[in-house]
Amino acid sequence: PVIPVNTPSATYNVTIAPNLLPTLHSRLRKLNPGKPFRPFIITSPNIWSLWSKPFLASFKEPPTVLFHPAGERHKRMASVESLAQQLSTAGADRDALLLAFGGGVIGDITGFLAAIYMRGIRYVQIPTTLLAQVDSSIGGKTGVNLATGKNLIGSFHHPQAVFADTDLLRTLPPAELRAGLQESIKAGVIYDAKLFRYMEQNAEAILSTKRNADPTPLAKVVAASVRVKAEVVSQDEKESGLRMILNFGHTIGHAIEAATNYKQLLHGEAVAWGSIAALSVAVARNTISEKDANRIANLILRYGPLPTFKATAEKLVSLTSRDKKNRSGIRSFILPTAIGKVEIVRNVTEPELLAATNAML
Ligand code: NAD
Ligand code: ZN
Repeated sequence: PVIPVNTPSATYNVTIAPNLLPTLHSRLRKLNPGKPFRPFIITSPNIWSLWSKPFLASFKEPPTVLFHPAGERHKRMASVESLAQQLSTAGADRDALLLAFGGGVIGDITGFLAAIYMRGIRYVQIPTTLLAQVDSSIGGKTGVNLATGKNLIGSFHHPQAVFADTDLLRTLPPAELRAGLQESIKAGVIYDAKLFRYMEQNAEAILSTKRNADPTPLAKVVAASVRVKAEVVSQDEKESGLRMILNFGHTIGHAIEAATNYKQLLHGEAVAWGSIAALSVAVARNTISEKDANRIANLILRYGPLPTFKATAEKLVSLTSRDKKNRSGIRSFILPTAIGKVEIVRNVTEPELLAATNAML
């Protein structure tokens, strides 16, 4: 499927299909008809060694490849400067088209580089992880980390297109797949009861690594999750309201990531724990039925196992007050009210949070 993103600052398509890479060249060529075509690939060595062959299959002249090491700790300003210098040395001008070929780290850093190189050039997302296909490649948020926190430097800069080849997911480590699926569960919880039910009823097929049927259950989940993200972002590009619902599970999730130094858990795993904590706030408030709450918790655990970690509730709650999304010290919380429906609340108290976090631990 082809799913449109339509915001005040950009309009583009997310194309989701197996076997996309071998036709990449003509797809890219069509984006800027009549303009010079000067592609630069930004990827990491491990992804390139797995997938360079199909990627380059449709190119007569192979583009310049710039490598960026895999891993969250390299999502820093120093890497942006180094890549910008390499671009400049390689002769990239305003007509350069950056191709972000990797997971969310490559996508975020390439998007930010594209936002600031020569005050802004075009880029395309070719996401290779499930998380990047269903979440980070869409919506134009780009950026890098500071020592004091994640994504503290950045810019809104949308890609010209997103090409998500679901075949790429075959080489993904199983834990990365499961962690990414937690973001799909989130999409179901906040916006799409049908996706939620599909994930309940087809868990085994979705998690299976043997995938020869077409369209595969996993590809269906990718498409439905993309649709949620694309619709939400199209309605609220700069996160003044609706887009906040995408942060379900993320307030406590980010606190868990910070408490464990971003090393122990994958992002999706931390979000899964955070979703369970947010769910217990809703349960304690009686704003969701027990039945729906159980379905949500069960689905999250079904796509586990969730690794355990060491942190006190006090520590986690104190870390939530540093969340970038806070305004004037007030935390916004996303609480589910039914499958596919959430409310944004600003009056979650510290004792409530402590109780919910303790229940999760
Ligand atoms: P990642 O980019 O670090 O990739 C995870 C690992 O998988 C890496 O080691 C990578 O090299 C490897 N890998 C990637 N594709 C592979 C493939 N096809 N086969 C085998 N190995 C492969 O992690 P991620 O989960 O994709 O992204 C996390 C990042 O995304 C975080 O920095 C987060 O802040 C960001 N993010 C951004 C947004 C946004 O809106 N911009 C949204 C959510 C997350
Ligand atoms: Zn997330």
